[in-house]
Amino acid sequence: TSAVAVSKVSKVFNPGTPGQVDALVDVDLTIAPGEFVSLIGPSGCGKSTLLRLIADLLEPSEGAITINGKNARQARLDQDYGMAFQQAGLFEWRSVEKNIELPLELKGWDKNQRRERAHEMLELVKLPEFARHMPWQLSGGMQQRIAIARALAASPSLLLMDEPFGALDEMTREHMQAELLRICAETQTTVVFVTHSIPEAVFLSDRVVVMSPRPGRITQTIDVALGDD
Ligand code: ADP
Ligand code: ADP
Repeated sequence: TSAVAVSKVSKVFNPGTPGQVDALVDVDLTIAPGEFVSLIGPSGCGKSTLLRLIADLLEPSEGAITINGKNARQARLDQDYGMAFQQAGLFEWRSVEKNIELPLELKGWDKNQRRERAHEMLELVKLPEFARHMPWQLSGGMQQRIAIARALAASPSLLLMDEPFGALDEMTREHMQAELLRICAETQTTVVFVTHSIPEAVFLSDRVVVMSPRPGRITQTIDVALGDD
């Protein structure tokens, strides 16, 4: 089965009103397990909408989405994927380590395992000394790295990321890109990655999906050749 299958999906916001937006029209996209796919295109072409549909944060107006052969709702309930968006979206009343432990709690990991894993993830994002801090004590870029650590903590088979590195300085971004690629190669993680940076898409991806706006649709799919060595 494919990791993600988007079949004839359309999304209309505010249908039948003067504010109607055809955010996506007739989108088909099949992603194989272990594939790294970037969605690129100008602002408003529907990248975030497509990612939110896959994440079951929105419902399609038409068409269907399956993840690991399940419908998107079931995949969300089963915690089949980790998510990291442009806004870190940390829980303000939970410490940094408690934020990272959240997906592990939902999966029933015990306390010691959770703590150990949270500390591993903090090392990964180079913030080991901030475990006991509260989110508001961290800069935007640091919060973003915690959100990425949280998304990766449970080693999900699928990662959904919407400009996750946007708020990072260049050095940190390069570190996080390299770590993401390493993790994906080691664990065969499937990634759907929204970016407006063509170099970032080409650097990270096996396949780049190009979208265009009004109405949002897929206009091109580019296999990024890596060479066979
Ligand atoms: P992108 O991520 O490529 O910038 P989006 O998916 O955010 O594009 O948006 C696609 C189109 O749908 C845009 O015209 C945007 O304004 C519109 N849109 C997105 N979300 C909503 C919403 N909740 N209500 C109305 N229109 C929306
Ligand atoms: P992104 O960088 O993710 O594309 P946007 O600024 O397009 O960010 O959207 C941020 C949030 O606002 C999203 O939840 C999106 O669905 C919503 N949104 C975008 N455009 C509209 C709109 N025209 N009306 C209502 N909500 C919108």
